[in-house]
Amino acid sequence: MRKFQCDICIIGAGASGMTAAIQAKRANRQAEVLVLEKNGIPGRKIRATGNGRCNLTNTKAREYLKTLRFFSDIGLAIREYPNGLVYPYSESAADVAELLASRMEDLGVKLLTSTEVTSVKISDEYDSGDDPEGSAGSSKVIEAVSQDLGNIQVSADELIISAGGKAGPAFGTKGDGAKLAASMGHNIIRQVPVLTAIEVVEDDIDQLSGIRARGSVILYKKGRRVFEEPGEIQFTRTGLSGICVFNMTRHMLFGEGESMSDFGIGINLCSDFDIDDYIEAVAFHSKDLDSGQKAVDMLRSLLKPNLARYVIGRSGVDPDKKISSLTKAERNAIIAAVTDLRFKPKKLKGWKDAQCTAGGVDRFQVDDETCQSLIVPGVYFTGEVLDYDGPCGGYNLNFAWLTGMAAGESAGKAVMRSEE
Ligand SMILES: Cc1cc2nc3c(=O)[nH]c(=O)nc-3n(C[C@H](O)[C@H](O)[C@H](O)COP(=O)(O)OP(=O)(O)OC[C@H]3O[C@@H](n4cnc5c(N)ncnc54)[C@H](O)[C@@H]3O)c2cc1C
Repeated sequence: MRKFQCDICIIGAGASGMTAAIQAKRANRQAEVLVLEKNGIPGRKIRATGNGRCNLTNTKAREYLKTLRFFSDIGLAIREYPNGLVYPYSESAADVAELLASRMEDLGVKLLTSTEVTSVKISDEYDSGDDPEGSAGSSKVIEAVSQDLGNIQVSADELIISAGGKAGPAFGTKGDGAKLAASMGHNIIRQVPVLTAIEVVEDDIDQLSGIRARGSVILYKKGRRVFEEPGEIQFTRTGLSGICVFNMTRHMLFGEGESMSDFGIGINLCSDFDIDDYIEAVAFHSKDLDSGQKAVDMLRSLLKPNLARYVIGRSGVDPDKKISSLTKAERNAIIAAVTDLRFKPKKLKGWKDAQCTAGGVDRFQVDDETCQSLIVPGVYFTGEVLDYDGPCGGYNLNFAWLTGMAAGESAGKAVMRSEE
């Protein structure tokens, strides 16, 4: 077995791991930093973010200026949109991944790719009370399997676990970080996929597959409205997708004994338009002109034809009934179907399709400022391995950069202290 020694070992060359490596070297140029990455290249997931554009952060995100400063320092030009979304100026996610990797190299960080960490052990006795800021002399022994080198063992003073969550396993994230954390005694908050599409019970939704409509999505829990967000709703063969639907999934939290049947979804397809007045005006003119128009025609200028027919069908009104003969109750039923089209959620799309993980290492066991474990000194957690999930719009990457910076800087300084 090949053995390596370093000051700081980082598991995972993703968003937070590469940031941590750079920041550790910037805090302490003498520190020997080794990054172990399961994939053949660093930053595979970063390349897929923001549909290949990488939504780096958001001007409404916590400490986003720190993120901007970090990227400006490493030489990334930024493009900020009026809606708060921030991208690399080139709008190329690959540029971000490549820049982080090349800055690591410039700073002398060692990177072993195609190397999967399988276990972590703390070699010596440590006393968490005596040295809360440092590793208190304990060594972290990391075992891994490398494609080129076979079984390897790394001994490090400080260990940063940046192995991500479980979302997007195709990018290398299968929950290893939480397993390693649990093996060292950390509490893991149940991990569930979020920022993902949802399947619904109503299988006639397949008629709407491919339709996109603006509106707002509403989540009900036990009949009570718990979430509402405007945006573009995408109808799929089996359910609903789109950013507002993704964000809704973060609010589908299951308490003890709760299940999908406790939730309901409503879609308001006219959230920014006074449909009551519009329907009454159409009904009035139709009677006046005796135009012979049908119920389905009422929604023609509001919704796409297939969606209009589906909505009228769900209202219980015959889509071919003449507008002039619709009763007030029928017109109200149409308004209700347009403004609160109900679906019963069946299941969330799984890890494969999810963009984020809710749950992870319990943040009560991790120092907020340094990202250091409060129960195993000298071990740090960054990014999605931690119990944090944010909405779409750059919040999750922002958290990865910030925690990566905090852990890297703190580990770099800890190594410096132990050398003094
Ligand atoms: C398709 C998609 C698009 C997204 N778009 C955005 C967006 O535009 N904006 C945004 O804010 N968020 C976005 N996200 C979320 C964001 O990418 C993640 O929250 C962020 O990358 C998490 O960073 P991380 O460092 O914790 O983990 P990751 O970036 O996932 O990195 C973890 C790394 O650890 C490695 N690893 C795992 N286990 C091991 C092991 N045992 N040994 C060695 N290495 C290991 C993995 O291979 C991986 O490279 C998106 C997610 C997906 C899936």
